[in-house]
Amino acid sequence: SLRAGIVGLPNVGKSTLFNAIVENGKAQAANFPFCTISPNVGVVAIPDPRLQVLSKLSKSQQTVPTSIELVDIAGLVKGASKGEGLGNQFLSNIREVDSILQVVRCFEDDDIVHVNGKVDPRSDIDVINLELIFSDLEQIEKRLDKLKKSKTKDTQVKVKEQAEKTGLEKIQEALMDGRPARSVDLADHEKEAIQHLCLLTMKPVIYVANVTESDLAEPDSNPHVKEVAKAASDLQSGMVTISAQVEAELAELPLEERVEYLKSLGVAESGLGNLVQFPRPLTQTFNCVYFYQETKAWTILSGMTAPQAAGVIHSDFQKGFIRAETVSYDDFVAAGSLGAAREKGLLRLEGKDYVVQEGDVMLFRFNV
Ligand code: GDP
Repeated sequence: SLRAGIVGLPNVGKSTLFNAIVENGKAQAANFPFCTISPNVGVVAIPDPRLQVLSKLSKSQQTVPTSIELVDIAGLVKGASKGEGLGNQFLSNIREVDSILQVVRCFEDDDIVHVNGKVDPRSDIDVINLELIFSDLEQIEKRLDKLKKSKTKDTQVKVKEQAEKTGLEKIQEALMDGRPARSVDLADHEKEAIQHLCLLTMKPVIYVANVTESDLAEPDSNPHVKEVAKAASDLQSGMVTISAQVEAELAELPLEERVEYLKSLGVAESGLGNLVQFPRPLTQTFNCVYFYQETKAWTILSGMTAPQAAGVIHSDFQKGFIRAETVSYDDFVAAGSLGAAREKGLLRLEGKDYVVQEGDVMLFRFNV
């Protein structure tokens, strides 16, 4: 499944948030079931209304929502990109996730030390960004050096290397200017050529403004939240407002009491709900697409082909891939079944190169 990493400076509420999600999952009553696979990795299911429709049509009770792995990535310290040990560990953990959730402290509490002395979201955001930018810059420099020395005679390789070089140079310029790689306008062939580097600042980011409970109803009244919003827009990122402490308290309450508690705070839905529900930020900013196989939902990064999608379900599906019988979700629902869609000519036979589209309903044919 896709992976999102929770990052942030110390004492901003990362563990409180992660634990709230874990507790919620244990309570089972929640809308977003969660199970832990190790102390800092958990799987959260994404509720998806399309599944209910598919379930009704197929008369199958059992639906399986898509899920996302959440990783609690601790250990960011200033200088991570230069440092060894923990710093390197932090960066390599980030390299392995598909998107980043940065918790930003927007609550004041004199009893809880802020590493930089005061609550200052823009500075917190910049500290982490700079580490990622330094790391990317270093990687790009090394790669450009290598490309310069390349003596390939193969014209196809040459063209690719040229695309990579121009792409990287554009990104380098942005990074030196403090802008993330994801903000750079690249041509498709450049994007493709640099993809293998897995640049850290290319990953989508959602800023999680962690506020005190009394701010939930009117987050904009908190100037720190406004600052996060400004930064999110400057940095081509998403944002949600959450109170990690409220989430922790909610997780302890029976379902019926949660609604009352949220009402008393003046909000309709919990921040976690806002983050996780279909098709809200957590999946949206991934740049991913949903596809369906019977009454199961899956998410893959957009741009993946039919065999790659098949491989997410089972590696044998990818190895032996022949074709995918495909119909869009809307056409499927209008037709009522795969058979009916076939009769109406709505079912397409897609091959190896087909790029999966949002909402495709797919049946994979493969050799065993
Ligand atoms: P981490 O270091 O980022 O993982 O931060 P923690 O989750 O351990 O939180 C640090 C401290 O801040 C803990 O004592 C939390 O109880 C507290 N904390 C977290 N969220 C909030 C909040 O919204 N309001 C207040 N007042 N304290 C919070």
